[in-house]
Amino acid sequence: MNSTILFFDVIIVGGGLAGLSSAIHLSKGNLNVLVIEKNSYPKHKVCGEYISNEVLPYLNFLDIDVFKLGAKKIDKFQLSTTRGQLISANLPLGGFGISRFCLDAALANKALDNGVKILQDLVDNIQFSNEQFSVKTKGGKAYKAKIVIGAYGKRANLDVKLNRKFIKIKSPYLAVKTHVKGVFPDDLVALHNFEGGYCGISKVEDNNINLCYITNFNSFKKFKNIEDFQEKVVFNNRFLKTIFNESIPVFEEPLTISQISFEIKKPIENHIIMCGDTAALIHPLSGNGMSMAIRSAQLASLLIIKFFNSEISNRDDLEKQYLREWNATFKSRLKIGRIVANLFNKPKISEVLMQVIKRFPSILSHIIKRTHGKVMKVK
Ligand SMILES: Cc1cc2nc3c(=O)[nH]c(=O)nc-3n(C[C@H](O)[C@H](O)[C@H](O)COP(=O)(O)OP(=O)(O)OC[C@H]3O[C@@H](n4cnc5c(N)ncnc54)[C@H](O)[C@@H]3O)c2cc1C
Repeated sequence: MNSTILFFDVIIVGGGLAGLSSAIHLSKGNLNVLVIEKNSYPKHKVCGEYISNEVLPYLNFLDIDVFKLGAKKIDKFQLSTTRGQLISANLPLGGFGISRFCLDAALANKALDNGVKILQDLVDNIQFSNEQFSVKTKGGKAYKAKIVIGAYGKRANLDVKLNRKFIKIKSPYLAVKTHVKGVFPDDLVALHNFEGGYCGISKVEDNNINLCYITNFNSFKKFKNIEDFQEKVVFNNRFLKTIFNESIPVFEEPLTISQISFEIKKPIENHIIMCGDTAALIHPLSGNGMSMAIRSAQLASLLIIKFFNSEISNRDDLEKQYLREWNATFKSRLKIGRIVANLFNKPKISEVLMQVIKRFPSILSHIIKRTHGKVMKVK
């Protein structure tokens, strides 16, 4: 019987943006890191694929040049209501468009180059006792580590195991995403509302256009299928009708996800340091989940390196500092994001809001600034 259990400094559960960014950062701090990711790379994910420029200095620190990967620079923004009222603005900070297919794989390759071990398996149990974690996978593997980062995304089997509060609340949101070829400006990200949802449009590498919409199940369930829903609801917004009808799909079938929860979560559970969506998910209408995921990875990594260097003397202090910094960085951003998303969810209020924004365009850049972070500093 082989009873040797491998021991790592840090095990990261989930190899998306948060998990892989932490893995690269921690490997630069000479820590012995294992990432356990259930899927292989590259893989498409349901996501708007527009990232705020706030993360660029940090991605450079991680040795990721998104423009070498073909990312499109984006500095213009359009917002339309269900009835097709349109507002255009410049993005105060700007961003870029890159597919998750491309970005996650580039991060994974970088992590491997830096000596990080990546295991393809599903984590199905994490236990903490005697100051160390035991992590078990569906494939029957077991590992130990001093620190575990939970970076397994919006919702997973582990949330049930950890008895997290949000998992008991049914979420009505689902999302659909596809890539198409067609005519759309490289430098624009558009958010077009329709009854019960909104659709983000922006270009990514290879001149593909990402179309990604989020809606609630109550709107969706009245229709036969995605095509029927799009025809009868989504296409009531003239901008969406044009882009969907005048472009050629790249995917055979659109990707879909359901049970997207924007409920409040705890950034630390059972001593696991939660990063990215595992700690909180902001409404894509009014915030950038991807930059939050990457930023939280930096936050966690800096503190974990200090912990291993004994600059932070014990676990309790590590957890308190992470919680304090996480709240200071994200709490108000999440709150404003939630308020804005709720207002735009109500068609009448959103029409009035758009009228107000049209008269006072500075309100829009104020909202964008409050729901996005400042450019990240590399520390
Ligand atoms: C419809 C929609 C549109 C969005 N659009 C945008 C946008 O345009 N811009 C933006 O900035 N943000 C957007 N977001 C938010 C963004 O997608 C997320 O915030 C971001 O993906 C978070 O990254 P993450 O690393 O936390 O999670 P993920 O990228 O989801 O990574 C989690 C990883 O964990 C793995 N995993 C899960 N469970 C296990 C397990 N038990 N064991 C092993 N591995 C596991 C998964 O396979 C996955 O690879 C959008 C979100 C939605 C829902």
